[in-house]
Amino acid sequence: MLDWLIVGGGIHGTHLSLVLRSAGVPERALRVLDPWDEPLERWRELTERTGMTFLRSPGVHHVGLDPYDLFRFAGRRRAGSDEHFRGRYRRPSLAIFQAHAQALAREEGLDGLRVKGRALGLTRTRGGLRVETETGNLDARRVVLAPGSAPPDAPPPWIPVLEEAGVPVAHLFQKTLPLGPFRQAAFDLDRPVLVLGGGLTAVQLALRLGREGIPVILLARTPLRVHAFDSDPGWLGPKFLQGFWSEPSPEARRALIVNARNRGSVPEWIAGALRVAAERQEVRVEVGAVCRAQPKPGGGAVLTLEQQGDTVEVAGVLLATGWGGAPPLAPWLGETARELRLPLSPCGFPVPEPSLLWGGGIHLSGALAELEVGPAARNIIGARMAGERLRDFALHARLSPRLATPRRTPGDRLAG
Ligand SMILES: Cc1cc2nc3c(=O)[nH]c(=O)nc-3n(C[C@H](O)[C@H](O)[C@H](O)COP(=O)(O)OP(=O)(O)OC[C@H]3O[C@@H](n4cnc5c(N)ncnc54)[C@H](O)[C@@H]3O)c2cc1C
Repeated sequence: MLDWLIVGGGIHGTHLSLVLRSAGVPERALRVLDPWDEPLERWRELTERTGMTFLRSPGVHHVGLDPYDLFRFAGRRRAGSDEHFRGRYRRPSLAIFQAHAQALAREEGLDGLRVKGRALGLTRTRGGLRVETETGNLDARRVVLAPGSAPPDAPPPWIPVLEEAGVPVAHLFQKTLPLGPFRQAAFDLDRPVLVLGGGLTAVQLALRLGREGIPVILLARTPLRVHAFDSDPGWLGPKFLQGFWSEPSPEARRALIVNARNRGSVPEWIAGALRVAAERQEVRVEVGAVCRAQPKPGGGAVLTLEQQGDTVEVAGVLLATGWGGAPPLAPWLGETARELRLPLSPCGFPVPEPSLLWGGGIHLSGALAELEVGPAARNIIGARMAGERLRDFALHARLSPRLATPRRTPGDRLAG
């Protein structure tokens, strides 16, 4: 039996594996379960897909342990400041961020911790927990759930109409995103591809298509909302979190999170890039929502916009409407919560302890820890915030190298 199993080997899972190693958990006692071949592979795929070249977050937010590690790494590689870090917050280039993560994975032997697979269920066993995967079960005394966000919500009802008619449609977050059919349709029909969404990923995708010479319309529900970050930096420390933590009700915390998150916003430098692309006629920007879609006999579709009643003719549709609002790991997370009698808030998300222990040896990170970590939980910095608590837990409980077995009593906070 493992001492620790981390479910999810993205930014959070990778950082947390480094945290546990630094807290003395031996390599043989720790594994990271993830369906991709390499650490952070899903993140790399998605960021490359959008065509982004710089992160939105500051250079002190990365997967390593020391906040300044990325700057040191860039220095070692003689990667110039201007080339790889931008602006007041020294936002890193995607290239240096990835190179740093890959180097860490190599140096720390993270490949050796990985088990390829997807968690399909979580149950209690004698002395620990069992995670079911497609290829067998993994037993561990403690499990950290770090699976990222839920898959996108169902698309608007007019999307299946287009799909049935053979119009190219895809979601930016689906497993792979071949752009060939969109490029071909745009070229054959001499019509643009519609990118649906008004947030950072939608704008970056539209900019990328524009740069590649694919005619593109960006359709957002509202005019661009401009904010430097996903949430105010006050949420990274006591300035705002003190009030959040003093609020005992999960519903009230959820409301604070919803208010605090600048969902669907872009930073000024991206808004500027879109203005330039629009002036150059590389991207056409429209505000509105589609109320009707009519496939055209020769290919493509005519979309009617609500209110103004305008129509746009498109060759295909790329959905960039973000992650789903539900908790990740559906449907089994809810079943596990019921079976192990672990607390869920009315919004369906777990209610963890301040240590991010949910109960029964299950620890949380990312979206699943949001009701304790606050609005930045899903970001890169959320991994660091969760990592601090996990390290404190592991050290305080003297869990390494020999871990205490979590008690079976539901809700037994001390033993976890
Ligand atoms: C294009 C883009 C740009 C972004 N830019 C920034 C930025 O600049 N700064 C910032 O702070 N944030 C940014 N974000 C948000 C970013 O997604 C998060 O900060 C980060 O990826 C969250 O890490 P994570 O580990 O929670 O999720 P992920 O990186 O998505 O990793 C989750 C992993 O868990 C795996 N997994 C899921 N379910 C299971 C299962 N059942 N069993 C096993 N494994 C599972 C997934 O396959 C994946 O490998 C960006 C997001 C996108 C999409």
